Amino acid sequence: QGPQDEVGRLVHTFNGMLDQLQELYARLATAVDAQKRFVADASHELRTPLTIIRGNIDYLERAGTLDPEALADMKAEAARMSELLEELLAMARADAGQTPELEPLALGPLVRDVCRRAGALPHQVDFVVELPPALDRIMVLGHAEWLRRALLILLDNAFKYTPSGSVTVRAGRQGEGVVLQVIDTGPGIPPEDLPRVFDRFFRGDPARSRGGSGLGLAIASWVAGLHGGRLTAESKVGEGSTFSLWLPVYRPAAGGTNS
Ligand code: ADP
Repeated sequence: QGPQDEVGRLVHTFNGMLDQLQELYARLATAVDAQKRFVADASHELRTPLTIIRGNIDYLERAGTLDPEALADMKAEAARMSELLEELLAMARADAGQTPELEPLALGPLVRDVCRRAGALPHQVDFVVELPPALDRIMVLGHAEWLRRALLILLDNAFKYTPSGSVTVRAGRQGEGVVLQVIDTGPGIPPEDLPRVFDRFFRGDPARSRGGSGLGLAIASWVAGLHGGRLTAESKVGEGSTFSLWLPVYRPAAGGTNS
């Protein structure tokens, strides 16, 4: 083995390092781009309601009266802004890796409670809740508030996008976990959009979109991941969509310890 081999090995090592550096750089660039887009999209989303509110203030000033319609508009836009801010904050916390603590909880009462609350949301469809009694014995390691939120997002979407027919909630065991499904008879999601509905700020066809922020499913999907689960969607245009939230079942260590 001469110095020639030594140099050859060094060149090989450096080339390997160069490749790794290049990959690292590419990853960083993607992350920075994603952050930039997030900030740009978020600002854009907040600017729209703000513009409407300012327009209404100008109008009220000029009119010199408190037009109830303009006031109602402003109230609705302000509500939209605070909802959006809350969602953005949740995303920022998630990005910062601030994951909330999980604790054992019974899924049955939680899901029933969400369904009861969802029933009060505006909807024009039959709301069918099919939860087996066995659900009450199923535990997950979870965060109650985030789980409620995720389910409510799915139900809210189902109601929002389904003009007629029904929205059904179902639950059952699947593998080592439990799956909660929200099934609607809405317009469905085109196959090319389906993989993107979980992206932040993704909104489908504006003709169908219902003025949301495009953050709902990104949050629900994050909640699924937080629980070691997953959120998936199946859909057929003209027939409807099914969103399935799968969560691993929690089994406390059987028996006591021997020590
Ligand atoms: P938002 O509803 O605020 O637009 P989401 O992240 O909740 O944002 O949903 C993203 C997109 O996915 C929606 O704009 C819509 O196009 C589509 N979508 C979500 N849920 C449904 C549903 N149940 N039926 C049809 N399309 C849906």
